[in-house]
Amino acid sequence: MTFHDSDCPAILGGVPVCADGAPAWPRADESVREVLRTMIHSGDWGRYHGPHVPELCRQLAEYHAVEHVLVCCSGTSAVELALRGVGVQEADEVILAAYDFKANFQNVLHLKATPVLVDLDPVTWQLDPNRLESAITSKTRAILVSHLHGGVVAVPHVREIADSRQIAIVEDACQNPGAMLFGRRSGTWGDVGVLSFGGSKLLTAGRGGAILTSRMEIAERIKRHVLRGNDAYPLSEIQAAILRPQLDQLDDLNERRRNAVFRLAPLLRSNSLTPLQLPTRDVLPAYYKLGFRYCPEDAKGLPRDLFVEAVRAEGIAMDPGFRANHLIHGSRRFRAAGELHVATQADAQMLTLHHPVLLEDESVIGAIVAGIKRICEHAGEIALHDSAGGTRG
Ligand SMILES: *Cc1c(COP(=O)(O)O)cnc(C)c1O
Repeated sequence: MTFHDSDCPAILGGVPVCADGAPAWPRADESVREVLRTMIHSGDWGRYHGPHVPELCRQLAEYHAVEHVLVCCSGTSAVELALRGVGVQEADEVILAAYDFKANFQNVLHLKATPVLVDLDPVTWQLDPNRLESAITSKTRAILVSHLHGGVVAVPHVREIADSRQIAIVEDACQNPGAMLFGRRSGTWGDVGVLSFGGSKLLTAGRGGAILTSRMEIAERIKRHVLRGNDAYPLSEIQAAILRPQLDQLDDLNERRRNAVFRLAPLLRSNSLTPLQLPTRDVLPAYYKLGFRYCPEDAKGLPRDLFVEAVRAEGIAMDPGFRANHLIHGSRRFRAAGELHVATQADAQMLTLHHPVLLEDESVIGAIVAGIKRICEHAGEIALHDSAGGTRG
């Protein structure tokens, strides 16, 4: 089959709609460049101590309106430290969603505690607070709540349950720093909150993480673990220095990303892609990934992974979501609290669009929609092309 017009999807030989590929991250940022120039001259780039780490902690504390901020070497270590901070120990249980960042599951195991997996809310595809009561036992030490793919866990409901049972919440805000959830910043609904400064994240230093809490005993317990005559999980001065101007810009950039999602969402919905979360009166999301539900039935049966391959061929940074933890780990490593049907569905149907494109102008948003539209229109041919050995050879 041949095409002679702009309707031909790139995977079938057409010209990609985003011919230059997905935009790079991090973006060129004059304020970061300026900080680095100054550090090169002063030699601060190579020193153990300086003003930037304490100043970043102060800025993060003020921004989130929390008492204590500790910075560390990654979001993964921040989750580990947060779990330690709320006292998770061997033989404890930690409740988390079956669909979650793999390292969150592993962190629970690392502390020799048992991950107790609960299902997702069928509408939001985030941890379902209605599943918590029946998951709680006398061993439950903490609930680990992650806001994923621009979506938002109903944290006030989780807070209510945790308070009534005196269980701690660790809130993973790695994917939505700066989001406003029901009147509070993401990461401040938990007894302790966690941020990541990894290389793809909205605030990036290549690596790094932070822990937010207003509870002195949690901060003290973490410090006792981390400070062994020296900081065992340090964030460097140079990392802290480049994060400070990014934090200053976070609200503006989150707003721009929300505006792009607002424009993109109705256009994509008409092509069978439903975003997980749009801004509402109660929720101003932050989009690190924009999560979508994909229904193959709506795209002539085109399997999700082939759909992703076709979208990526257009120069668009789309990926499948996470693997659900109950599907990739042996059943002896966790306890399933009830059925995990929605998490299984999310494992099979989640799609995510990477955030850098959300800061691009209108023409790029238009190109994305055009690319996805033509893939949906030619879904049948793409499926045939693949089964004939097409792109995957
Ligand atoms: C990125 C991320 C983390 C932490 O990742 P690091 O690369 O270790 O900073 C934790 N949780 C979620 C949900 C994430 O997306």
